[in-house]
Amino acid sequence: MNPEHLLQPVMRWVATMNWVSDRNQDQMAYAAALQEFETYQRFSRLLLSPENHKINGFVHINNQGQPDVSVRRADWNSWAQPGDSNRKCVRCYKQFSEAEPDGECRFHRHGKDCCGNPTPCTTATAHVHNKTCMSEIGKFIKTPRSSGQFDGRSYKVFGIDTEMVYTEYGMEAARATVVDVHGSLVANFFIKPTGRILDLNTRYSGVTEGFLDIAVSLEEAHRILFHHINENTILVGHHLSNDLKVLKLIHTNVVDTAVLFESRGRYQSLKVLAKRHLHKEIHNEVGGHDSTEDASTCIELVIKCFLR
Ligand SMILES: [Zn+2]
Ligand SMILES: [Zn+2]
Ligand SMILES: [Zn+2]
Repeated sequence: MNPEHLLQPVMRWVATMNWVSDRNQDQMAYAAALQEFETYQRFSRLLLSPENHKINGFVHINNQGQPDVSVRRADWNSWAQPGDSNRKCVRCYKQFSEAEPDGECRFHRHGKDCCGNPTPCTTATAHVHNKTCMSEIGKFIKTPRSSGQFDGRSYKVFGIDTEMVYTEYGMEAARATVVDVHGSLVANFFIKPTGRILDLNTRYSGVTEGFLDIAVSLEEAHRILFHHINENTILVGHHLSNDLKVLKLIHTNVVDTAVLFESRGRYQSLKVLAKRHLHKEIHNEVGGHDSTEDASTCIELVIKCFLR
């Protein structure tokens, strides 16, 4: 999609605002629309190319018109072949079958920087993994088409972050947050996972007991997201393929800070990038990640390092 072609409809859209009788208001609306469009254009220069979108593990539509994923970077974007039920516990590294996660899992709750004891300090009654079965790809849906030239979603740029919990099916979305380019909240809600929850992963997810009471289904989550996002919307995130994977969404217009800051084939964590470029400490709270902070940090990084 060439953003230059979008300017005409924006102008026409602004021209329809003749219901605004006050000339000043008219000019303000015009200036705001123009600024929004300029922001969109600037971010669009950083969009992942279709090839990079594929290489970086995003689910995409292949030449046969089917949802597909390239597993070249399976190391961090893990998928399991259909029929392969072997899983490795990400906490205690034991092998187990996806159908039978129950069993004693002994591990260090805080990984490398835990208690320092040689014997694991935490015991759980089930193992957890982070693989998604490739057969799930059939359930992925594309973000909606533009409803026409006055569809405001087509000129938006949003930061997005998803927090995940471990269930019997691997990692599932438990919370999604969308912010605009100024870091203001656009949408923020909890999502009900489909599988039995095995670990809330609070240290990383920030999700705590009781979230299910206010969580919506994934279908409802899509409805909320599609109120703001269509296929032209630019989504900015860090390892965004992971977020879109758990949201079961196919979206092409993405700016990925993990890819933008990749150096010599190595990705940097959002925490490291925030500290280095924004002199900001994130992911320090005992309460886990704050998805609002993560989403706006991605936007800030792009503006500071690529659009100034
Ligand atoms: Zn420990
Ligand atoms: Zn385990
Ligand atoms: Zn996060």
